[in-house]
Amino acid sequence: MDRQQDFVLRTLEERDIRFVRLWFTDVLGFLKSVAIAPAELEGAFAEGIGFDGSAIEGFARVYESDMVARPDPSTFQVLPWETADGQHYSARMFCDITMPDGSPCWADPRHVLRRTLSRATESGFTCYVHPEIEFYLLKDLPDDGNEPVPADSGGYFDQASHNAAPHFRRHAIEALEDMGISVEFSHHEAAPGQQEIDLRYADALTMADNVMTFRYVVKEVAIKQQVRASFMPKPFTAHPGSGMHTHMSLFEGDRNAFYDSEDPYELSGTGKAFVAGLLRHAREITAVTNQWVNSYKRLVAGGEAPTAVCWGHANRSALVRVPMYSPGKASSRRVEIRSLDSACNPYLAYAVTLAAGLKGIQEGYELPPATEDDVWSLTESERRAAGYASLPQNLNEALGELESSELLAETLGEHVFDFFLRNKRAEWDAYRSHVTPYELRTLLPVL
Ligand code: GLN
Ligand code: MG
Ligand code: MG
Ligand code: MG
Repeated sequence: MDRQQDFVLRTLEERDIRFVRLWFTDVLGFLKSVAIAPAELEGAFAEGIGFDGSAIEGFARVYESDMVARPDPSTFQVLPWETADGQHYSARMFCDITMPDGSPCWADPRHVLRRTLSRATESGFTCYVHPEIEFYLLKDLPDDGNEPVPADSGGYFDQASHNAAPHFRRHAIEALEDMGISVEFSHHEAAPGQQEIDLRYADALTMADNVMTFRYVVKEVAIKQQVRASFMPKPFTAHPGSGMHTHMSLFEGDRNAFYDSEDPYELSGTGKAFVAGLLRHAREITAVTNQWVNSYKRLVAGGEAPTAVCWGHANRSALVRVPMYSPGKASSRRVEIRSLDSACNPYLAYAVTLAAGLKGIQEGYELPPATEDDVWSLTESERRAAGYASLPQNLNEALGELESSELLAETLGEHVFDFFLRNKRAEWDAYRSHVTPYELRTLLPVL
C-alpha cells in the first residue's frame, strides 16, 4: 500500500467517515458515483470495484460490459457537509476505469484526457488550465418547457444583496475551498441570476476533476439555499448564455513556454503555433466544446460569445484571446479559449483543445494576424472577405466537421468518437423534428 492510500485509510478512521463515494464521468459529462464502506476500500485500492459498464452512457457494448473502477487516492477529499443523520461526513475519490484485465477503458473520458496529456509530456510540456465558470441561479427548474425564474435581478459585478440566496457565492466558495479547490475570483455576471466563479489554475487533469466537483458542489449549495443552479448553455432567449472561458498555458519545467518578453503580445513562437492550431481545428473541436443543441443558441452575436474563428488581444468577439492583464509577468502568459460552455465534458473538451494546440506546435502552423475588429458587427460576406471562418451554427454542422476530422478520431479514440457521433446525431434528429413554441407563435396566426 502506498503513502497516499495509507493517508486515505487513516483519515477515514480519524474522521469516522461511513461512506466513500467513488466518482467517475460518463461520455456526455454526467457525474457517476458508487458508495462503498471504508472497510471495502483496501480491497478497492488493490483490485478496483467491478460494475456493469453497459449501464453507463457511452461506456460499453453489452458483450464487453464488465468494467472496474479504480480509485485514485490523490483525489481523496472529505465532502464539506454532514450526511443526513447530521453525525457523519462522507468522502469522495475520482476513479480511473479499466477493463477486467487492467487495461485502460477507452470509454473513460479521464483516460482520453490522460492520453492527450501524455503526448504533451512527451514533448516536454505540462498543461495548466484555469476556467471562468458561468451559470444561472434560478428559483426553480421547470421541466414543462417554460422559462425559469432567475433567483435575483443583479447585473455585471453588482453587489446584489436582495435576492433569494443572499450569500450564495460565499457559501459555494467555502465549500469548494474545503474540498481543496481554490477560487481566484467571483462575481455576478451580466444577466439576472447569472454568476461566475473562476478557479485558480491547476494541471489539466486536476482541473477537469475540479470542474466536475464544482458543478456538483454548486448545485448542492444552491439547493441548501432553496434555489437551483443550472449550467445549461443558454436558458434564456433574451439573456447571454453561460460560457466556460478556458485559459491554457504550457510549461517546460518551471518556464512558461508561451512567454516571450520581446513579442508585442508577449507570446512566444510556441504560444503562437498553439493558437494557430486552435484556430485551424476550431470547427472540428466545436462539437465537443459545445456539445448540446442548446449550445449553439449561445454562439450568436452579442452576449460576448464567439461566432468567428479568429484571435485578438482585447477583442471579446474573438474565439481566442491573449489577455494582457499583467504585462511582463512570464508565469501568467496564457491564451483564453472562449467557445467552451459550462455544460461540456471537461475531460474531452480539454483533450481536444490541447490536441489542436499541440498539433499547431508540432506542424509549426503559421498564426494569422490578430483581429481587433468587432467581428459581430460584420456581415457574413464581410467576414468571408476578411478570411474569418464562422464557427458551426448548429450541432448538425459541428458533427459534420467532427466526422471528417482525423485529429478528433485520434484524440477521442474510436470508441468515444463513434459513440459521440451516434448519440449526438440522435439528439439532433430529435430536436430538428420538434415543432417549437417559436414556430407556433410566429407562424400559426399568419399561415
Ligand atoms: N456569458 C458570455 C459567454 O457566454 C461571456 C461574458 C463574459 O464573461 N465576458 O461567453
Ligand atoms: Mg470572467
Ligand atoms: Mg464572464
Ligand atoms: Mg474571460
